[in-house]
Amino acid sequence: MRSIVEIIAAKRDGLALTDEEIRFFIGEYAADRMPDYQMSSMAMAIYFKGLSAAETGIWTDAMLRSGEVLDFEDLGPARVDKHSTGGVGDKVSLPLAPAAAACGLVVPMVSGRGLGHTGGTIDKLEAIPGYRADIEIAAFRSILKDVGCAIIGQTAQIAPADKKLYALRDVTATVSSLPLITSSIMSKKLAEGIEGLVLDVKVGSGAFMKTLDDARRLAESMVAIGEAMGKKVIAFLTRMEEPLGRMVGNACEVEESMDILNGRGPADIRELVGCLGGAMVEIGLGTTFAEGKAQILASLDDGSAYDHWRRMVESLGGNLSAMEKPKGEIVLRAETSGFVQAIDGMEVGLVGVELGAGRKQREDTIDPQIGMRIDAIRGERVNVGDPLVTVFHGAQGLPDAGALKRLSAAFSVGEEQPKTEPVIIERVG
Ligand code: URA
Repeated sequence: MRSIVEIIAAKRDGLALTDEEIRFFIGEYAADRMPDYQMSSMAMAIYFKGLSAAETGIWTDAMLRSGEVLDFEDLGPARVDKHSTGGVGDKVSLPLAPAAAACGLVVPMVSGRGLGHTGGTIDKLEAIPGYRADIEIAAFRSILKDVGCAIIGQTAQIAPADKKLYALRDVTATVSSLPLITSSIMSKKLAEGIEGLVLDVKVGSGAFMKTLDDARRLAESMVAIGEAMGKKVIAFLTRMEEPLGRMVGNACEVEESMDILNGRGPADIRELVGCLGGAMVEIGLGTTFAEGKAQILASLDDGSAYDHWRRMVESLGGNLSAMEKPKGEIVLRAETSGFVQAIDGMEVGLVGVELGAGRKQREDTIDPQIGMRIDAIRGERVNVGDPLVTVFHGAQGLPDAGALKRLSAAFSVGEEQPKTEPVIIERVG
């Protein structure tokens, strides 16, 4: 078998890796016998040269086997989760997991931190004082039994190779690789002991997949791996041009999620929660998609989803009434009148990271209060001087002028009102 350096060189030169080489490579990394720089180099080689479908399957399996596969069979057959490939303002998991639990599903959700320019579910939840995402499996099981849902981070037991590689990809510009996204998502989801999975594959300027063709290939790759492991998998390609909803950041996205959980909030997020949840109920309870969607939306309107959210947060140690407000805010205003025609989701995400809502280096800490509210979303009319976006800042004071300038430039304002675009583009599987 080739050595570690030879394996990296083989992928750099576009050669196929064997089953044994992939398992050895991941095994060495997971066991801390390989330095990060060798894995960074491999991630970059994969970014450029890709992995075949067979190599991707083996890479996923090796990452999955770096930890254990949880056994939650005693919790019933309706164990279904959802995962997104990552977007800006994508807080869907926060209202969705409790809504699905309120409909009778069991949702063992293992989520990640911010990745590249996109936010992470765990960073958002940790904006709630006391919330513990790093709990033991026994505690995870007991919350699932009591509440029906729990959102936690990866532990040493759940695909630990992905936990390490995920944090490394975040800061080495190696996120948007189809095989790396496929194996990252599927390794942790297949470890969760679920029966079914709904995937939200984002496409557009604020997503890792910029074109429909790439997003479709990513969706098909994940559906194929899930089905090969005997799971029911449905993927949706969904629009990610501008940020989802109005809030981008950590604490402010928790607040917006609670609006959704109370039957209010932005229409695009409610629609996504309804559709992704509808497919979860379809898989888990055997309803039609339309019946599933109606049940999810009813749970948002009748308070049952919020009740599950509150119980989940409390079981994980979170104290919602102790959430802090930002230290201050600054409003950026329209310099021309007209309709907001586009908001560049990628720029908004990158400015968010620059301001301190995401990480530039693996060791960086996040200030949960930093974020922004989009005051004028796509399609809304503004006059000169009207607020476009409000930036919330934390203890370190006002953000730098360069970042604010970039943020203003992410908004295009023009004469014509843009056509409304549906958030759901296509269903795969
Ligand atoms: N979510 C993940 O868990 N991994 C990725 O690579 C992208 C999104």
